[in-house]
Amino acid sequence: MKNIFVTSVILILAGGAYGQAQVPEATELYVDLEEITPGEGNEPPSDAVVLFDGSDLDEWQKPHEGFGRGSMQGLKDVIPGISYETSRGVANWKIENNEMVVAPGEGGIATRKMFGDIQLHIEWNSPVDEGKTGQGYSNSGVFLMGLYEVQILNSYENETYQNGQAGSVYKQHIPLVNASKPPGTWQEYDIIFTAPRFSEKGTLLSPARLTVFHNGVLIQNNVTLSGPTCYIGSPYYIAHRPKLPLILQDHSDPVRFRNIWVREL
Ligand code: MG
Repeated sequence: MKNIFVTSVILILAGGAYGQAQVPEATELYVDLEEITPGEGNEPPSDAVVLFDGSDLDEWQKPHEGFGRGSMQGLKDVIPGISYETSRGVANWKIENNEMVVAPGEGGIATRKMFGDIQLHIEWNSPVDEGKTGQGYSNSGVFLMGLYEVQILNSYENETYQNGQAGSVYKQHIPLVNASKPPGTWQEYDIIFTAPRFSEKGTLLSPARLTVFHNGVLIQNNVTLSGPTCYIGSPYYIAHRPKLPLILQDHSDPVRFRNIWVREL
């Protein structure tokens, strides 16, 4: 029996080394790939879910009140019980000049659709306001799954802690470089997000990961997240659903947005 096994292994290895691999076709794969049309210029690709094209806020609503807690203590209490489908009303941000503008004090806005792994494109603009500094100068944020923040901030000649500047995974990962443009200029993030996986019992199987390009420059290279974003204290994972809404933050600054789309991966 053992000899048959050994002989088989030798024959298989020999076949691989001297048989199939001798012709190039042996290592060519043919599969049915979905065909999509890439966008021209600023257009989204044909398979994108367009979340904002300048016309209306129909894809957005007020997020459930459980989102946006600043500490793990707050998050820990709300994440398991949140009813994510519950609408708390329409998104009250403004549209001006085909751009979406944060309405300070109205709170963040959440997508009506829910997402897990995505590619996200979003363009944003910090208005010039020379009276502002640090975290107070055009702060907003992209919250993947409503929980994991890629910071939006004016970080052009505006000092703050580096793990809280534009393009940081807030308080978890400093961007590789500062690729910020001056305030008043349109900037873009292209984000690849891998959602965390949990077992049915709620244990973490694999953590969330993020890759971010800021104005075309790689600033986060497949970094591993420690848990949801929190302002105070150290993060840790709390099991949640495989799909949750994308949320944009109201941090009391009139940051502007345009051309937002995602591709589900
Ligand atoms: Mg923020």
